[in-house]
Amino acid sequence: MNILERYHAMEYGPAPEARTEADAWLAARDFGKALFIDGAWKAAASGKTFDTSEPSSGKLLAKVSDAGAADIDAAVAAATKALPKWSASSGYQRAKVLYAIGRAMQRHQRLFAVLETIDNGKPIRESRDIDVPLAIRHFIHHAGWAQALDKDFPGHKGVGVVGQIIPWNFPLLMLAWKIAPALAAGCTVVLKPAEFTPLTAILFAEICERAGVPKGVVNIVQGGPEAGVAIVNHPGIQKIAFTGSSEVGKIIRKATAGSGKKLSLELGGKSAFIVFEDADLDSAVEGLVDGIWFNQGQVCCAGSRLLVQEGIAEALIAKVKVRMSRLRVGSPLDKNTDIGPLVDATQLDRVKGLVAEGAKQGAVCWQPDAALPSSGYYHLPTLATGVSPANILAQEEVFGPVLATMTFRNTEEAIELANNTRYGLAASVWSENINLALHVAPQLKAGVVWVNGTNMFDAACGFGGYRESGFGREGGREGMFEYLAAKLPLGPVIKPATSSAQPVEQSDGGAIDRTAKLFIGGKQVRPDGNYSLAIATAKGKMAGEVGLGNRKDIRDAVAAARSCKAWPEATAYNRSQVLYYLAENLSGRAAEFAARLAELTDAKAAREEVEQSIERLFLYAGLADKFEGRVHQPPARAVTLALHEPVGVVGIVAPDTAPLLGFISLIAPALAMGNTVVAVPSEKYPLLATDLYQVIEYSDVPAGAINIVTGRTAELAGVLAKHDDVDGLWLFADADTCAKAEADSIGNLKRVWTGNGRSLDWTSDEAAGDALLRRAVEVKNVWVPYGD
Ligand code: NAD
Repeated sequence: MNILERYHAMEYGPAPEARTEADAWLAARDFGKALFIDGAWKAAASGKTFDTSEPSSGKLLAKVSDAGAADIDAAVAAATKALPKWSASSGYQRAKVLYAIGRAMQRHQRLFAVLETIDNGKPIRESRDIDVPLAIRHFIHHAGWAQALDKDFPGHKGVGVVGQIIPWNFPLLMLAWKIAPALAAGCTVVLKPAEFTPLTAILFAEICERAGVPKGVVNIVQGGPEAGVAIVNHPGIQKIAFTGSSEVGKIIRKATAGSGKKLSLELGGKSAFIVFEDADLDSAVEGLVDGIWFNQGQVCCAGSRLLVQEGIAEALIAKVKVRMSRLRVGSPLDKNTDIGPLVDATQLDRVKGLVAEGAKQGAVCWQPDAALPSSGYYHLPTLATGVSPANILAQEEVFGPVLATMTFRNTEEAIELANNTRYGLAASVWSENINLALHVAPQLKAGVVWVNGTNMFDAACGFGGYRESGFGREGGREGMFEYLAAKLPLGPVIKPATSSAQPVEQSDGGAIDRTAKLFIGGKQVRPDGNYSLAIATAKGKMAGEVGLGNRKDIRDAVAAARSCKAWPEATAYNRSQVLYYLAENLSGRAAEFAARLAELTDAKAAREEVEQSIERLFLYAGLADKFEGRVHQPPARAVTLALHEPVGVVGIVAPDTAPLLGFISLIAPALAMGNTVVAVPSEKYPLLATDLYQVIEYSDVPAGAINIVTGRTAELAGVLAKHDDVDGLWLFADADTCAKAEADSIGNLKRVWTGNGRSLDWTSDEAAGDALLRRAVEVKNVWVPYGD
């Protein structure tokens, strides 16, 4: 090709990144001793190793120590030994260590980037400009949190020894997201990288040695699922932080049920990329390149579902195809490469299989006419059109460079399609009309929404999902809570409920017989089974009978809670007024409730409990419009609105202890934040809740906002735990019921909060306020860029 021809072709020349330093590092290391435990490099106790190879060529890079249960024991022992000193060190001490890590990483930034690209296959442009700088920022940002801990998180302390398990798609960045907040909180860690990508974690452990991280504070164990299982089940670990597939996330949720371990799960996604007809199409196309072809689509929040408004679909698809034809597929070490290889042959096979199945189910799969390198696990960028909502490419996380396209007619349809997924990680909204974008964003069931942008991340802004994308947030203030334990005032151990175990003596009669039914959709309804439960007074006499709710009643109650739009859509001020009104009406009947309490529980302080219940309603009425989100200013031309959204439908199982105050203390914060509630009152004292029906009816509570199903605690808790339309479950019951509910919650990975068989001291101020409100909200981060 002569110069003129080259000029016309406008071809990029090769621009390879040097790998000399990385190769020298690889050659110098003994990967047979790659476990970093208690500040020393160790071989696996079994002597086993696993291979890590280069995705662009398939060549072996290293044989790395493969940890087993004995190595995890040693790592947990080291972390446990290091914990007292580290957690007692001052915030300033920990801040200095975090800062030193960040600075040392900066000094070796290029080596990190090249190693990451060699091991994972991601283009060097991405590892150099995105992964590594973001990881560094995470450490430096969290140095500040270490010092701000006492002031910003009063009543909280580090949770203890943390087990962390990460995937291969952002090996260093995921490590940073895990380790930085843990160290800031005063925790010690045992982290397991993914078996495809061990290298940058080994370099990071070297950095820890140099940055003065005390021995045993950071332990990094290489290995596969066996090591992961050993971490998850280890009794010496107080929290598991997992990032990976939803499938493994569910296994971990089940395995940790009843263990009391704190858990955060950052799982898969099927994020919508919504383009309205007034969008700047060229910008949207560039956004799409980032949205789905960044890291070959191996991104949890990849915008893998393009939803485009009908009128512009043809024009947009044409532009996308032109742009796809210009994507440069090739060596990831070339600075001009857009698309590198997938991480491994198994991943390539999986992606090919899904594309073939999608085509079989009717999708038209288009790829640009480009040659693939002769070796390595490459897959061409792929555009699937004619995709029905049920197509596998619209439903399953492909985790590859494959975009599924669907059209919509109007805003409502766009929102419906976007939410038609079992995931809820992220979404992008493209429109030049900011009013429209900000109208749509809150309606998307996703933890992160980018307006006219995509894949923006920052250490100050929380990241994480809804539904099967997991729970918990990483980054920012909300991410810090994941590594902190609140000192909630504990109440008594809860024994399995024993209502009506003994025969109940009939009362002498006198008053007109009153039948307490269930309260569903704003109405008092008979229980489906038409059975009743006899409730005894403290003296063993008959106090009354309540409906014996069953699975069907819970189903009806959940349906009523789900269809109640008036409450979640009400303004916070409105909700506040309704809660004040509830308090006012309860106050009007305080004497009657006190008498009921005294009759049922023989409580000397019945009147006091009623007064405290009214006070608590007042508190949450007042906080309804004050527990607000924040605005972040990340280092970009954007603001991030960290909005507090209701969790959704929350199941609440109330304890026997302080039966009125406990019940109110749980339903009030959930309601204050706009959740709709399906409440199961204490099995022993449900009459206090059924007496509330009329108070609720008088207080302008919209139908379906509060639903009350009386009956057997263990049975109804089980139904709520398994119900896939319940988004959250707060459970104060005996330990077995709590453990079972956690295990049963994996269907939709609902947020479960249990007392692990203990009640709280509901009379304490610490069992009220922010600690509960935080559980009643999801933090959604909406990124809004600005500027021309
Ligand atoms: P994976 O679930 O197969 O593996 C993740 C990690 O878990 C690995 O370290 C693996 O060794 C370990 N592991 C496997 N089985 C285990 C078990 N039974 N017990 C304990 N540990 C076990 O996921 P992957 O293929 O490595 O990563 C891809 C997935 O990660 C995708 O679904 C992606 O969406 C998700 N991801 C999510 C986020 C997020 O922030 N939400 C970020 C990155 C990746």
